[in-house]
Amino acid sequence: MNFTPAARLAGIEKSAIRQIYDRAPAGSINLGLGEPDFPTPAAIREEAVRFIHQEKIRYTPNAGLIELRRAIAGYYGDAAKYENVCVTNGSQEALFVALMALINPGDEVLCPDPGFVAYPTIVRMAGGKPVFYKLPAKYKFQLSVEDFKRKISSKTKAAIFNSPSNPTGSVLPPIDLACVEKLLANSEISVIADEIYREIYFDRRPSSIADFCPHTLVISGLSKSHAMTGWRLGWVYGDPEIIRHLIVLHQYATTCAPAISQRAALAAFTDEGRLAAENLRAELRARRDFLVEMIDTQLAAGEGKYNRIVPDGAFYLMLDIARFGKSFEVAERLLRSGVIAIPGAAFGEEAEGYLRLSFATDFELLREGVRRMKEVLTT
Ligand code: PMP
Repeated sequence: MNFTPAARLAGIEKSAIRQIYDRAPAGSINLGLGEPDFPTPAAIREEAVRFIHQEKIRYTPNAGLIELRRAIAGYYGDAAKYENVCVTNGSQEALFVALMALINPGDEVLCPDPGFVAYPTIVRMAGGKPVFYKLPAKYKFQLSVEDFKRKISSKTKAAIFNSPSNPTGSVLPPIDLACVEKLLANSEISVIADEIYREIYFDRRPSSIADFCPHTLVISGLSKSHAMTGWRLGWVYGDPEIIRHLIVLHQYATTCAPAISQRAALAAFTDEGRLAAENLRAELRARRDFLVEMIDTQLAAGEGKYNRIVPDGAFYLMLDIARFGKSFEVAERLLRSGVIAIPGAAFGEEAEGYLRLSFATDFELLREGVRRMKEVLTT
């Protein structure tokens, strides 16, 4: 049979990141990781084990266990209620249902460049048109309010923000959030805030755009803050009237997030769970500082300084490699030397000339990764 996929999949392929992984030789040092390499906190694992042994593992309500929805609402403040929350299979599904619920064919959605590849891809699947606003490299990948303003049109339906950012680790400061609020105040444009990295910060806790733009849908989860990528536990937080529609989509897509993960996730909202997230943050800060030091002292030794953007959050660092060629070519050469690094261009034009290095890996591997990079990145 000659299979032709549905039109909504036209031109949509496996992400460039996955393609790089597929070709990585065995024994490669992985600086491409999009997940913390820590074990999930003990309190969460123990609750999962207890639940498996002692209780029946059944469907939960579609939107999630009421007690988990309450715990998540509590994280957003005293005024929040469980009706504000839909628990999903990771924040990836949260993004998917949010965009599918909002976007009609022809709608424009403002997406960051550089940004997480899922945004424009899901927008296209929904029949919408991604319109990219720039986070210019020359502003250390901070928002260009001017460019954002220029990209708004009568067809703009939603704007996606991701702070701290994948791939750059940059955090949107309150002054930029206030500008965005002014620009969107009298419009019908929805804000989608992907805050999956919000608890991974190295200076002050990042502000949420939801505190500026009241009609924001917040996308988040426990994958990164609690090293739970494999548990598939995320959520959408927002206006109950919108959440009600997302729950319907979510019901027909997945029924509910895994019952075991939901029950265990309750432990993330205890003092023990919060402490575990704090420890993870401190460890990532130490690794960030170590990677910066390695780049400055090992990679750059005798060959001039490398422009690297020290991130304020998440676990990615952008390294300027423009003098060695296009980012895909440089990543390819590194792959042959046993280092996985993600080309900036995989995240958008604005990050061409950069590599995304993940420091969600231990000190020794960071050291060895930089040593191998030095073999390729010499002038
Ligand atoms: N948003 C961003 C910006 C991400 O980097 C990721 C994972 N790489 C996700 C969402 C999805 O994460 P998860 O589904 O595990 O919550």
